[in-house]
Amino acid sequence: MYGNVVMGIEGEKLEELLERLKEARGVQLDTELSAADLKELVGQLKARVKELTGSEFPDDPQQQLWGAIGAVFSSWNNQRAITYRKLNNIPDHWGTAVNVQAMVFGNMGDDCATGVAFTRDPSTGENYFFGEFLVNAQGEDVVAGIRTPQPINNIGKTDDSLPSLEDIMPEVYQQLVEVYKKLERHYRDMQDIEFTIEKGKLWLLQTRTGKRTTKAAIKIAVDMVKEGLIDKKEAVLRLDPGQLDQVLHPMLDPQAPRTLLAKGLPASPGAASGGVVFSADEAEAAAENGQQVILVRIETSPEDIHGMHAAAGILTARGGMTSHAAVVARGMGKCCVAGCGEIAIDYEQQLFKVGDQVVRKGEVITLDGSTGEVFLGKIPTIEPALTGEFGEIMQWVDEFRRLKVRTNADTPHDSTVARNFGAEGIGLCRTEHMFFEEDRIMAVREMILATDLEGRRKALAKILPMQKKDFLGIFTAMKDLPVTIRLLDPPLHEFLPHTDEELSELAESMGVSLAALKERTASLHEFNPMLGHRGCRLGISYPEIYEMQVQAIMEAACELVKEQGLNIIPEIMVPLVADVKELQILKEKIIAVCERTMAAYGVKLEYLIGTMIELPRAALTADKIAAEAEFFSFGTNDLTQTTYGLSRDDAGKFLNTYLEQGIFARDPFVSIDIDGVGALVEMGVTKGRQTRPGLKVGICGEHGGEPASVEFCHRAGLDYVSCSPYRVPIARLAAAQAALKE
Ligand code: PEP
Ligand code: MG
Repeated sequence: MYGNVVMGIEGEKLEELLERLKEARGVQLDTELSAADLKELVGQLKARVKELTGSEFPDDPQQQLWGAIGAVFSSWNNQRAITYRKLNNIPDHWGTAVNVQAMVFGNMGDDCATGVAFTRDPSTGENYFFGEFLVNAQGEDVVAGIRTPQPINNIGKTDDSLPSLEDIMPEVYQQLVEVYKKLERHYRDMQDIEFTIEKGKLWLLQTRTGKRTTKAAIKIAVDMVKEGLIDKKEAVLRLDPGQLDQVLHPMLDPQAPRTLLAKGLPASPGAASGGVVFSADEAEAAAENGQQVILVRIETSPEDIHGMHAAAGILTARGGMTSHAAVVARGMGKCCVAGCGEIAIDYEQQLFKVGDQVVRKGEVITLDGSTGEVFLGKIPTIEPALTGEFGEIMQWVDEFRRLKVRTNADTPHDSTVARNFGAEGIGLCRTEHMFFEEDRIMAVREMILATDLEGRRKALAKILPMQKKDFLGIFTAMKDLPVTIRLLDPPLHEFLPHTDEELSELAESMGVSLAALKERTASLHEFNPMLGHRGCRLGISYPEIYEMQVQAIMEAACELVKEQGLNIIPEIMVPLVADVKELQILKEKIIAVCERTMAAYGVKLEYLIGTMIELPRAALTADKIAAEAEFFSFGTNDLTQTTYGLSRDDAGKFLNTYLEQGIFARDPFVSIDIDGVGALVEMGVTKGRQTRPGLKVGICGEHGGEPASVEFCHRAGLDYVSCSPYRVPIARLAAAQAALKE
């Protein structure tokens, strides 16, 4: 280990000498070698070190100690530490520390042992002592999987269980139990402890707050409140919003048929299907191509982190519940089946076998990380039930937060999912998504390609009833909750066909020549579509489009108010406003349609007309815009794009370089750039409320579901954040934590 960790020699080059010797002696385990064998091995290892490094293996303990200390400090800058920091947003400049402690030996005979334990189950959070150990072994051996570890106690014991520490060394076990209880009471959190027994005497090597799945984190936090160890605030602060989605994701549909392939340990819950790959690099490459993969390894090591991150799930043949794969997968919230001894992996042939069954690279398998089962093929999943401890802690979350949480949803289904996750309204309904639906895209294209107003009106009349149906569905799904509907935003050519075949079909249905149609589509081409004829600019050029949309919104609302007595307050939102005059002109037309529609239905309802703030000029002139706008919603996707002058669609090409060189601490499209974009948001809020005190302000860019950005929104005094349905609970938790941190 010293040769590998301190002197940088590839581990295999040293391990193979041990393997060879065991083979020569006809034994399986290192503990079966004699003292003379080990002496011989030491000689061979020293010679190998000399051969590979050109220097002698150091015999001086002082020199060894400094070597080890240096290796720990240097490890801060190795690739896996850098990757880990990147994944966990830990700044590079923090640095690390080194503890020096005397060695105790768990490998001096059968009255010695070493093990790792958790004071509660790190996978489920159940309150029982959980761990593994090996007799006559040293620390690293337990995680490296050289022998199958034995359970620490007899909880869940079965006939074929290996003898436990409780069985073999009952007094030491009792002592360990007392110590773990004391540690947990002291730290008021679940501990991950490492211990060694040297000639019958127990030594604690280390204790730290244990990594756990989100499911376990929730259960432990709720249980600890009930046990009086912590209060509700602390329980809420202990959850990591970024990891909450572990429990929000689908599980295997219990009704779905399945073919069981093998069973390993339920190392990290959740379910995932994907094509099999056998290396971390392949997993990363496949994920970049948008493929869902399962990383299958004999065991994983820190070198595999990038592939584990890219994979949908992880399957290992070796290793226990405390193996590298299990611990890392739980931390990442990835489903993982570990120690699946039935599978025989052949890296050369790129396949694994279970008995006679062969599974090759690319074939799809499904993992259930909650049961440890591995299935052939893809199995459908179902939504998780958000009850029990999750429901309980989310109730506490809602007691502490001030920010409201809405959702971005364009369909009744998404609206319902979001409501079940606790959404308090829709913050952004993007109407363009509705335009793409099969039954209407033709009418949309006719509308766009019409050369005159009459042609456009004819096509819009076809779209109107379909849009109305969309809004009926969404209003019904959201019942009395507020719904913000954004009028058409993207450049029109996004809706046009690209292939000759589709163009011919369209030309035929429109009764025009292909050449004429091509000319018309070419005329819509733009060099910078994101800065082109889109957003409210469309509404200014073609008011009839927005008029149709507003009519559809109001007809749907009036119908539901009249027929079902629902309390609906539509919030109509105009995108990409840069100048108050744009909003002034459009607002007048919107009001006219609203009033006309309400009169036709004989219904009076409240409605709001507001705007997105997604251009720097809008933020800079927010006081003027607020004279017209009844609410603001920050579109931080476009605001980031236009503040940085950085294309949303092209940034990917150089973003990594920017992250690597530290120009960006984080991708500004993921986590809000507080200094720049954030300053505009703050200015927009302040100026807007100067003109219109109490102006309702929200955010609906992707940042609305990202914990650090939610915290910023809380501080900036926004009324709500709006995010995709699955991120609603994350935003709720982040909002509560922001309030508590204050
Ligand atoms: C935005 O720009 O942040 C926004 C929500 O609008 P879209 O992403 O649809 O441009
Ligand atoms: Mg936008």
